[in-house]
Amino acid sequence: MKRIALLSRSIDMDFLRPVLEEMEPDLNIATWPDPRSLHAEVAVCWDPPRGIYAQMPNLELVHSIAAGVDNVVDGQQLGDLKVCRVSDPMQAEGMLQYVLWGVLYFHRGLDAVVAGQGQRAWQRPPLVPAAECRVGVMGLGELGSHVASGLARFGYSVNGWARSPRAIEGVKVFAGSEDYPSFLAQTDLLVCLLPLTEATRGILDRNTFNALPPESALIHCGRGEHLVEDDLSDALSGGQLRGAIVDVFKEEPLPVTHRLWNAPHLLVTPHMATMASVKTIAQQVLRNLGQHRRRAPLFNEVDISRGY
Ligand code: NDP
Repeated sequence: MKRIALLSRSIDMDFLRPVLEEMEPDLNIATWPDPRSLHAEVAVCWDPPRGIYAQMPNLELVHSIAAGVDNVVDGQQLGDLKVCRVSDPMQAEGMLQYVLWGVLYFHRGLDAVVAGQGQRAWQRPPLVPAAECRVGVMGLGELGSHVASGLARFGYSVNGWARSPRAIEGVKVFAGSEDYPSFLAQTDLLVCLLPLTEATRGILDRNTFNALPPESALIHCGRGEHLVEDDLSDALSGGQLRGAIVDVFKEEPLPVTHRLWNAPHLLVTPHMATMASVKTIAQQVLRNLGQHRRRAPLFNEVDISRGY
């Protein structure tokens, strides 16, 4: 019987235990800091203690409970460990819903309406055709490509940016760092759905904001470390950006004293854009556990050399 460790420093991973045990009753599960977790062959993780894999002599497989693996690999010695993530069509649909809400918020002028309510101002925003609103999606992976094509179906003028070129119906695709300036110059609403890697850390900075057309806005639902928070504050208070919706932060929950709570024209949401269901996470972990036992190819294995 394989032993499974549930590892996290920041959330209670025991939420997974009853679902895993119901699906496969004879599992041997230990939750960190139970010392038995250090003997596991499989680690199921969200933000595990730094350096913990090096203390687990039997560890062979690391499974993130999310789409991103940055907090699962940061500060760890990976060696030959295999790393998998969760992939879920409902998760992509949830992200599309969140981004569509953010796009409508700015496109239909609801930011101005909400701001005007404090002054009891009856101001009707102009109705601009969706085709005149240019949405730029950074990252065209599992979530970004679904968001980009979904927005295109709603009639938005959608640009996408990724490392490599590809064809997505209704989406104008830009690729690589050489295309980045022209992608930004044609973007009114910038949506970040990049993975967190060394190349993308801090990418949402003053250079990026300054390269957008005037009156642009940001919808950020990638990872907190993509964003240079002080640069965003400055861009909002200086008027370089019309507004921003930010779902992910370097420190979560966002501390009550953090300046971004009070930044002008900023909506803070609590890392809620989307998530996989507990059932899907458990199913995918157990499916990969089975593949691993049979030495068969794993599903949704991450290319560690690329970082996503
Ligand atoms: P994927 O790994 O599937 O896709 C990543 C995309 O980013 C790919 O298109 C890739 O390009 C592109 N990319 C990577 N590096 C670069 C770079 N240096 N320059 C340009 N493009 C780059 O990611 P997902 O779609 O699964 O996830 C996207 C983000 O959403 C992640 O940060 C994840 O953590 C976050 N997320 C947030 C949630 C929330 O609730 N806020 C919930 C779930 C996920 P290429 O295709 O050419 O390789």
